[in-house]
Amino acid sequence: MKIYCPQCSFEPTPDMLWQCIPGCHFQWHTFDTRGQCPNCFKWWRVTQCPACGQWSKHDDWYHETAPEVTEKSTIEVTPPVTIPSS
Ligand SMILES: [Zn+2]
Ligand SMILES: [Zn+2]
Repeated sequence: MKIYCPQCSFEPTPDMLWQCIPGCHFQWHTFDTRGQCPNCFKWWRVTQCPACGQWSKHDDWYHETAPEVTEKSTIEVTPPVTIPSS
């Protein structure tokens, strides 16, 4: 799982703080709480990028890293039996 801005690919560092405005003005690292203000419990559905200033859906900041393709679920197929016709 990677966290970066969906608009400019900026990766927020753990020491960055977001402020609850409009709200209680509390400052916290919004990706610790998936966008919820820990002070007033306001759930922020959008998050502003400190780099490009664009607002994006909080969920869009999370990027699933490409899952590794494992080939262990291959279905074993019994080869068809050919009956020789004489
Ligand atoms: Zn708040
Ligand atoms: Zn950005």
